[in-house]
Order: sequence, then C-alpha cells, then structure tokens
Amino acid sequence: MKIKFWGTRGSIATPGKETVTYGGNTTCVEVVSPQGHRVVIDAGSGIRLLGDLLEITSESTEIYLLITHIHWDHLLGFPFFSPIHDSGCKIKVDGYPSCMKGIRYPFDNQMGDGFFPISFEDLEAEITYLGVVKKEPLHIGEMVIDKVALTHPQGGFGFRFREQGKTLVFITDNELPREGESPELMDRYVAFSEGADLLIHDAQYTPDEFSGRRGWGHSNYEDTVKLAMRAGVRKLILFHHDPSRTDKEVSEIEKHCRRIAKEQRSDLEVEAAREGAEVDL
Ligand SMILES: [Zn+2]
Ligand SMILES: [Zn+2]
Repeated sequence: MKIKFWGTRGSIATPGKETVTYGGNTTCVEVVSPQGHRVVIDAGSGIRLLGDLLEITSESTEIYLLITHIHWDHLLGFPFFSPIHDSGCKIKVDGYPSCMKGIRYPFDNQMGDGFFPISFEDLEAEITYLGVVKKEPLHIGEMVIDKVALTHPQGGFGFRFREQGKTLVFITDNELPREGESPELMDRYVAFSEGADLLIHDAQYTPDEFSGRRGWGHSNYEDTVKLAMRAGVRKLILFHHDPSRTDKEVSEIEKHCRRIAKEQRSDLEVEAAREGAEVDL
C-alpha cells in the first residue's frame, strides 16, 4: 500500500516559514491499496489539496473516509474537500461512531444558522455511513482495517491496515501511559502495533511539556519510541506535531528519537511526518 501525508500538524493549522519542511496542515493521511482502493484518514485542513488533486475519472469514484474522532483539527477541511461537490463520487464514511455528526455539523442545517453557507443535503457526492469498523473489521478489497480505542478526551479510534502481509498502524491523539502506569493500557497499544511495518503515532509533546499536559490526550515522543520498540515495529513516524513546534525543533526531536533507539540497540527507523511525503509499504 502507498501512504501519503497531506496533513501532519496537531490542534490547529500553522502556515508560515517555520513549518515549511514538516508542514502546517492538520491531520489527513491517504492510503491507497495495490488494487487502487483509496482510504483517507481524517479530514483536517490537509484534505483540501488532496481533493483538488484527485482526479474523479470514472462515473463512480469511491473514496473511503475514516474518521479517528471529531475534534476540529481532524474535520475542518471537509467542507473544502472538492469531491463532495462531484456527483460521480461516492464517499463512504466510517470510523468513530460520532463521525457523521462531525462531518455534517459545520454545514448549514437549513435554518440558515450553520457555520458554512451550503447545506449538507446540497452536496453532490453520495455520502454514506458504513458503521462497520466500530463492530468488526472493515474489508476493502484485500485490505482489512480494524480499530483500537484511543486514550483521548471524548474518545476516538486508531486504525490498523493489513494487506498482502504488510501492516500499517495509525494512532494519533493518544496519550500513552508513562512507564509503570496502567501497564494493561500500554499492553493494548503494544499488541495492536505488534510487528507493524509502519507505525504512525502521536508524538506531540516533549517529556518536559508532558508533565503539565496530562489528560490532554497526546503522547510525548519518548513514550512513542518505547511503544514502537516494544511492539517490534520496523519504522515509526512521529505525528501530530505541536502547533508551536518549528521545523528545527521537529528535526531535533527526530534526531533525539533515533538516538534513543540506537542506545537501546534497536533497528527501529524513526522519522517525523512531513507533509507531502510518501511511503510505499
Ligand atoms: Zn488532533
Ligand atoms: Zn483530538
């Protein structure tokens, strides 16, 4: 499968000269299977450009939209996702149970008091809710997608994609417990990520920042690296960069995480997510 990062930032979009390398758009990651099935994870501001570049070629282009949770930074791009205006497009939505509420909410509700000037019912695309992944794995062609519950205010789901012997795990907006705290919770994320070829995980905070931000639902990068090493993943991509983080700071975090892995004699590869980057699994 091919993975592309359209938005890597957490909390709020951060355009500007300090965020050119790693990107300023909020969460949006595209996964395309070898058979051509397209899954978009989250509709943060990064989804706008993806929508503009997607070619809706056939009469029935299918896009699966998987929503981790409905915090704004994961949804605010949806009204600007141009395929919603294309009658040849079928958007199949799944993910956290409140996902349809989340994507409908910004649109006008026909009482004229919405946050957006057009109503959801006027969108040309066929937008349907699948409601599968909350109950059982979702099968899309040969790709199987299952979920794990996040440790995050109001909840959310992380997702695991398996296809042709390859595994991608995507977990953002997740607060990993510190060493010695809630071992069964850590075991849950280790088991879910076990042996993944690629783990994309929240690493919003530094260890120093983390102590003052407990309960906010994000991880510090040290715990994220420890999870990846314990789960024996091949490659870790640090995700959901803090909005205050400059490119230079993200690059330092990336180097520090590589050092942690090296000190533990781990073969783990570590990168910080870059907007526009692609990974071929
Ligand atoms: Zn977020
Ligand atoms: Zn969130």
